[in-house]
Amino acid sequence: MEDDARSSAVALLGLDGFVVLCAIEVDGELHQRIETTADRIGCPSCGVLAVPHGRRRVWVRDLPAGGRPVALCWSKRIWRCQEPMCERTSWSERSAAIAPRASLSERARRDACRRVGRDGHSVAQVARDLGVGWSTVMAAVRDHGGPLVEDPGRIGHVEALGLDETAYLRANQHRSTLYVTGFVDLERHRLLDIVAGRSAAGVRTWLARQPKEWLAGVEAVALDPHRGYANGLLDSLGHATAVVDHFHAIRLANAAIDDVRRRVQQDTLGHRGRKGEPLYGIRRVLLRAGERLGASAAERLRLGLDAGDRFGEVAAAWLAKELLREVYAALDLAHARRRLTAFYQWCAEAEVAELTRLARTISAWQDEVLAYHDTGLSNGPTEAMNLLVKKIKRVGHGFRNFENYRLRLLLHCGVTWEDAPTARLRGRPRSIA
Ligand SMILES: [Zn+2]
Repeated sequence: MEDDARSSAVALLGLDGFVVLCAIEVDGELHQRIETTADRIGCPSCGVLAVPHGRRRVWVRDLPAGGRPVALCWSKRIWRCQEPMCERTSWSERSAAIAPRASLSERARRDACRRVGRDGHSVAQVARDLGVGWSTVMAAVRDHGGPLVEDPGRIGHVEALGLDETAYLRANQHRSTLYVTGFVDLERHRLLDIVAGRSAAGVRTWLARQPKEWLAGVEAVALDPHRGYANGLLDSLGHATAVVDHFHAIRLANAAIDDVRRRVQQDTLGHRGRKGEPLYGIRRVLLRAGERLGASAAERLRLGLDAGDRFGEVAAAWLAKELLREVYAALDLAHARRRLTAFYQWCAEAEVAELTRLARTISAWQDEVLAYHDTGLSNGPTEAMNLLVKKIKRVGHGFRNFENYRLRLLLHCGVTWEDAPTARLRGRPRSIA
């Protein structure tokens, strides 16, 4: 019976080498007194059997149990060496489960890392839940997440590589917008890495760090129509097909629509668009794919353009975007070429400065645009990745530290989290029946 009680006390805690001596609830928290199960130990210096030399209490936070926060009070044994010749006098026991001077048990730190990394919770939230400071949780994320991110096997074989820039910190009065460049595995939908800036140098440096065999395996690179990237690729990925994918091309066309809309608003109203004004009211509908507009959205689009777009410039930009989308939806290369001609023609005849510029950019990247039809790259992954990046940015309230930002992003979209699935309970579990 006593053995049963002891093994229950060990099982309840589930902390290797520890047993619960007693548990009480204090103000909605579960306090557990614990000690190690080791009662015979040799001196680490000479090996002679050590004798107990009192105890010291150490408090740490552990994983919640039954919905309550848990505090562990470890009665830490202090040992003394009996060997007179030995230079070691006394020492306190150690455990891998609770690091010296830690305020969290190691498994609580691992769980904190998982919540922040995999689940995308904010560091501040996890710190509040555990009743510890922000830096304690961030240190846990760094200690447990760092090795996952730096694991050389993490990146793996990549055939289709995506390059993308995102704003990492928006401009304010003290700085201009800071960008990062992301490397994405387009097939496995996974973020490989990010580097600061959006320069050719950043891309080149990252690529130069990758093994030659890895680089040789990359067959296609999807990129933002940003000249810097192409330059950064030439040295090590000259063999791969560069592609301006659907997502990036349409983002460019949407930017042109926004520019035209803003200018027309300014010209006709004398100020920036406001709530209740026709073009401002359709600013999002304008960016939606034509065939995804329902009857009511299409009607709003028509009314908004009728009321606010006197010279048809916004409408021309909208149609240019639709024509560019048709290029990507073409059946084959020849078809795409014909549609691209129609797009150029429309932009030339529209006589809208923003469309002239858009057509010029697309024409500078024509090979890469048409290459989309050779490689069969899909458009989804970079887009999905962008949404993830935005989500992480929201929980982080704008990261000021690039390394933390990189770690958080890679933990959320760049590593595989190993989880042992929990078996379903069917009837009564046999072992305690
Ligand atoms: Zn000794």
